[in-house]
Amino acid sequence: DPRIQKISSAIRVIPDFPKPGIMFQDITTLLLDTKAFRDTIDLFVERYKDKNISVVAGIEARGFIFGPPIALAIGAKFVPMRKPNKLPGEVISEEYSLEYGTDKMEMHVGAVEAGERALIIDDLIATGGTLCAAIRLLERVGVHVVECACVIELPELKGRDRLGDKPLFVLVDGA
Ligand code: IMP
Repeated sequence: DPRIQKISSAIRVIPDFPKPGIMFQDITTLLLDTKAFRDTIDLFVERYKDKNISVVAGIEARGFIFGPPIALAIGAKFVPMRKPNKLPGEVISEEYSLEYGTDKMEMHVGAVEAGERALIIDDLIATGGTLCAAIRLLERVGVHVVECACVIELPELKGRDRLGDKPLFVLVDGA
């Protein structure tokens, strides 16, 4: 697809952020390019519009940028998957491990119902730990996760393998 190259070029790579040795994939420059940003959303919408998806679950923070326009376009609701202690209502939470220590992801009780079909959206998959936590959280309440989708995959970190047989769709590879 000719749109992919433009999307890839619109993503900026910033070395040594947030710490030495990390090549940070910065999607804020993609958001400045109105054509590439629209194409990014369109590519996801084209893939998911006829898949009977009722929930788009977006992962804080950059899943909150890409998720809502996709949700509106495919006629699904948007559910934020948040960092701990941000959501005001009753939550269910799922712990997951980071390079050092653990983190938690939370979702409002009642946001989704058992039997719904969900798409999970984030900007990037690295080790896959974040997406795995989101899958577990949704599956615990009986939601069927149809697929996970990210703008960028860092293939060397093999996050895809960690998702097991859960399908992952990405637009571009990052270094
Ligand atoms: P994982 O859990 O190791 O797959 O890390 C994925 C999470 O870390 C996502 O929520 C990303 O937004 C974030 N992340 C990791 N590396 C980058 C990066 O280079 N750019 C933007 N986000 C990143």
